[in-house]
Amino acid sequence: MAASHSHVAVVVFPFSSHPAVLLSFTRALAAAAPSTTTTFSFLSTAASLAHLRNAAARDDALPSNLRFVEVAAPAAEDAPVPRRMEAFMAAAEAGGIADGLEAARAAAGGAPVTCVVADAFVWMAADAAEKVGARWVPVWTAASCALLAHLRTDALRDDVGGEAASRGDELLTSHPGLESYRIRDLPDGVVSGDFNYVINNLLHRMAQRLRSPRSAAAVALNTFPGLDPPSVTAALAAVLPNCLPLGPYHLLNPDTSTNDGDPNGCLAWLDRHAPRTVAYVALGTVAALSPAELGELAAGLEASGAPFLWSLREESWPLLPPGFLDRTKDSGLVVPWAPQVGVLRHGSVGAFVTHGGWASVMEGLASGVPMACRPFFGDQRMNARSVAHVWGFGAAFDGGAMTRDGVASAVASLVGGEEGRRMRARAQELQAKMVKAFEPDGECRKNFAKFVEIVCAP
Ligand code: UDP
Repeated sequence: MAASHSHVAVVVFPFSSHPAVLLSFTRALAAAAPSTTTTFSFLSTAASLAHLRNAAARDDALPSNLRFVEVAAPAAEDAPVPRRMEAFMAAAEAGGIADGLEAARAAAGGAPVTCVVADAFVWMAADAAEKVGARWVPVWTAASCALLAHLRTDALRDDVGGEAASRGDELLTSHPGLESYRIRDLPDGVVSGDFNYVINNLLHRMAQRLRSPRSAAAVALNTFPGLDPPSVTAALAAVLPNCLPLGPYHLLNPDTSTNDGDPNGCLAWLDRHAPRTVAYVALGTVAALSPAELGELAAGLEASGAPFLWSLREESWPLLPPGFLDRTKDSGLVVPWAPQVGVLRHGSVGAFVTHGGWASVMEGLASGVPMACRPFFGDQRMNARSVAHVWGFGAAFDGGAMTRDGVASAVASLVGGEEGRRMRARAQELQAKMVKAFEPDGECRKNFAKFVEIVCAP
C-alpha cells in the first residue's frame, strides 16, 4: 500500500448500545473519507459483530472501504454482563487491542494502522496506538457534563470523601462546569458506589489516561455548540486537546438515522393520532423496572388519559397489571421494540418518558419533544438534571421510583399543560440550534470535517 494511504482502526466497547453507535459513526466517517486512499477496520467481538451484521443486513451493505475485524472475547457469551466486561477489559489491557490492530493490519494486506479511533471507554487503545506509531482519537458517546465529572473524579473524591450520602443535595459549586449539579447527580462510581466495579473502574482509568500528557490527537464529543453551558465547554477544553463537538452522532449518518424497520407497526399506529397527543415511553436497552414500579407506570399511563406507545422488552410483559393490555387496547400500543428515532420524529408524539440515556435525550431533543426522565444508573441522573434544570425542556422523577400519580401528572402536563408548552418551546429552541449546526456550513459539519482530516491523515 502506498505511503499516502491511511488505515483507520475503529475500536468498539462491545456492550449495550455502544457498538451500534460506533458503527453508525464509522459509516459516516467512511462515507466522508477519501475512499481510494483510506481503509477502515472495525474491531469488535464476534458476538457483537454478528449482532451488527444482522442489523446491517436489514440496512445497506457495509461501505466498500470498511471491514469488520474480530477481537478476542475471553468470557462465554452467556456469562453475566459485568463478568464479560471485566474479561474484555482485562484482555484488552493485556494485549487484546494490540492483537486486534495486528489482525487489522494483516487483513488490510499489511497496511499499517495510521489512526486508532476508539470508544473512549476502551482507554487502553491509546497504548496500543502508541505502540504502532498511530494517532489515538477517542470518541465520547455520552454527555459532556458526564465526561467532565469523570475527568474530575480524583478532585471530587478529595472534596466529598465519604460524605456523598449526607451531602447529596449540595451543589458542586467549587468544581468549574459542574456548578448546576448536586453531589447525588454525579455518575455512579465517581464519589459513591463500588469504585472497583468494572464500569466505575474503567471510567476512572479512562479519565486518568485522557488527562495524561501522552494525549489524544482530538476528542469527539456527542454534543453540538450551544447546548453545553460555556463553563462545561471551557472546563473540558482546559483538560482535553482539540475537543470537537459534532453530535448528536445519529445525525451524521442519514442512512441509519431512522433506526431499523418498523416490524411492530409503530409509525402506522402513530399516524392515527392527532399532533402532539401521544406519550412515547422507552427506558433504553439496559434499565429494568421492578414489578411494583412497572405497575405504577402502567397505571399512571392509563390514568393520564393520553394515548401511549410503550417500548417494553417482552420479558416484562407478564408483569403488567392484570387486564392492562385489554383495557388500554384502544388508546395504547405496547411493543418489544420501536424505531425510536422515527417515532420521536413523528408529529403525533407530544411527550417522551425516558430513562435519560444520552442517545435518547439527544434523539428527543433532535425532534423538539419535551421529556420526563426516570434515571436509573450511570450518567442518567446527571442527564435528567441537565434536562430539567440546565436546559429546562423536561421534568425529572427526582425521588427515584415513579408513582401512578407522578406519571399521570407528568404526562398530562407534557402533552397538554402550560408547563409542557414552555418545555416544548425550550426543546424547539435547542432543536433549532442543532439543525443549524448540521446545515452544510454549520459548526458540527465543520467539526466533523476537521475530525475526518485528523483521522484520515496518512
Ligand atoms: N432504542 C430503540 N428502540 C427501542 C429502545 C431503544 O431504537 O425500543 C434505541 C434508542 O433510539 C437509543 C438506544 O436504543 O439510540 C438507547 O440508548 P440510550 O443511550 O438512550 O440508552 P441505553 O440503552 O444505553 O441505556
